[in-house]
Amino acid sequence: MLINLHSHLEGRVRPETAGELARFAGLPDPAVGWQRAIALDAPGTLTDYLKRVAATYPFFRSPANVRRIAREAVIDAASSGHDHLELRFGPATHADDERGLDDIVRAACEGLREASELTGISSGIVVAALRHHDAESNEQVARSAARAAGEGVVGFDLAGDELLYPALEPHASAFAIARAAGLGITCHAAEAGPASAAREAAELLGATRIGHGAHIVDDPEVLSWCADHGVVVEICPTSNVYTGAISSLDDHPQGAFRAAGVALVLGDDNPLQTGTDLAHERRLLQTAFGWTDDDLRALDRTSVEAAFIDAGARERLRSRLG
Ligand SMILES: [Zn+2]
Repeated sequence: MLINLHSHLEGRVRPETAGELARFAGLPDPAVGWQRAIALDAPGTLTDYLKRVAATYPFFRSPANVRRIAREAVIDAASSGHDHLELRFGPATHADDERGLDDIVRAACEGLREASELTGISSGIVVAALRHHDAESNEQVARSAARAAGEGVVGFDLAGDELLYPALEPHASAFAIARAAGLGITCHAAEAGPASAAREAAELLGATRIGHGAHIVDDPEVLSWCADHGVVVEICPTSNVYTGAISSLDDHPQGAFRAAGVALVLGDDNPLQTGTDLAHERRLLQTAFGWTDDDLRALDRTSVEAAFIDAGARERLRSRLG
């Protein structure tokens, strides 16, 4: 099965759509073409990585564009064999005020709904607060996400540069709003920061899932705390190499997570920037890390239970488990 629980909308813009939207917005085509302008040539730091993600931001400046990009992302995921796609994005990058936020969030929901009806795969939006925004801006984002709960928004996240903005406490009030609305809670943490950031995200923000969490394994106490408390880690192996979270695939901590009993799910993070996709990430689990078919079935079961979806959609995914 292909259940994608960590993927960014900004990492799934079709290059041909990028070119079309850029021309419409009066932006010059880069000499190397949009595909090369957005993709990373080689591993670097999280800051380098996020700069390439930001190269897509001009395409998100209208609700119509967001709706189209979201719709195409789900259609493309279905074509590549996905059973379920959670798409996350930070709407505050693309809107100027709280009303604008609502328009952008609802446009993403509409794009997903149209594509899910067309393709038959389930999908949901995870709205991301951003580390470099202040508490009040992220509270606005949380209120906008809360208003769209039940209309396509299924979760809430914190994304951005953990190296430059490691503090979680300023965002606690935004997460309280999201939790009160019944949204699933995840958080990018311990990707560039220390292991303790993952535990703090769980305790302070209410995260039941942690994005990347590559450094959790550096601290055996935090690692076993995550296992004991059922914290699910969303692993994205290729992305971790490109952001410098690990120096090579051989250093990926999946083995230490599994040995400690930490539940894992899979994502492709920003496939456009890193030239991967979920099917490739799943194959890597077998070819690079030696996972067996039984291991993959366990991943599927965990993914179905950890997905931020309603009971009916979860039951449909359960019925497809091997
Ligand atoms: Zn991510």
